[in-house]
Amino acid sequence: MAEYGFLGLGIMGAPMAANLIRAGHGLTVWNRTAEKCDALVQLGAKKAGTASEVVASSDITFAMLADPAAAERVALGPDGVIEGMGEGRGYVDMSTVDEATSRDISDAVVGAGGRFLEAPVSGTKKPAEDGNLIILTAGDEGLYNDAAALFDVMGKKRLFLGEVGQAARMKLVVNMIMGGMMASFCEGLALGSKAGLGSENILDVLASGALDNPMFAIKGALIGKGEFSPAFPLKHMQKDLRLAEELGDILCQSLPSAEAAGTVFTRAMTEGLGDEDFSAVFKTVTD
Ligand code: NAP
Repeated sequence: MAEYGFLGLGIMGAPMAANLIRAGHGLTVWNRTAEKCDALVQLGAKKAGTASEVVASSDITFAMLADPAAAERVALGPDGVIEGMGEGRGYVDMSTVDEATSRDISDAVVGAGGRFLEAPVSGTKKPAEDGNLIILTAGDEGLYNDAAALFDVMGKKRLFLGEVGQAARMKLVVNMIMGGMMASFCEGLALGSKAGLGSENILDVLASGALDNPMFAIKGALIGKGEFSPAFPLKHMQKDLRLAEELGDILCQSLPSAEAAGTVFTRAMTEGLGDEDFSAVFKTVTD
């Protein structure tokens, strides 16, 4: 029976790995902060001391890491993925990174005899817990097919988008739209509040027409209660807007709205909101 690995047990990685274990898959896990492995060991996972140990004992290893620097460090650094890579083994990086990072990791994995798939996800903490993510993939199609049953445990929809870089691009396009929507939504709530309009009424009007969407409904209710515990950390949205702007530069596509949203999220970072939910940008626009 195939053995699998999982690297990076943060807000997203931990529930995704838990779902794989509950579905009956043999899983070896590693996380930089080792204690985060313990809950998964209780569910039946094996714990490894390094990322390379995980890869060396797994047919396919999944990773869910913070950002390009973390993805590169875990893949290419000491005790990392490449040190454990062997002929035909698979590495599926589900972190949200830029295409250049993804290609660097892909080249190193393929150079070490392995197979690589980038597979960033759309969906946040609750969809990760419920196995309802949307999984965007690109790279080795054989590995996509081999990992399909596991993607179907972690997600409700999966797409194969072609060459390495295309899934990274898709993810950045989607999050650029989401970041702009959140900044605009929070400004609307702030303006409405100054105009003497109750936020419940604003949410009601939004929910009654073409702007109805789960993000406004769920985040709007939490903002109203002053709850900003992180489902999607603000620092990751700021990173995604930055990476989307870089993609715009590469492709000569001007992105003035995304740049404006990026400026607001960067200001939120300087105000110490990086570890709160990305909806905490509301605090910045109401300053
Ligand atoms: P998170 O809770 O911040 O977890 C980040 C993970 O990366 C942790 O396991 C962390 O290890 C690890 N890490 C960070 N820097 C590292 C380094 N230098 N070396 C080794 N490991 C490192 O983030 P998350 O919310 O799970 O997000 C993970 C990825 O998914 C990000 O790329 C994010 O943009 C993307 N994403 C998130 C969401 C969401 O709603 N949360 C949705 C879609 C996509 P420690 O535990 O040791 O810190």
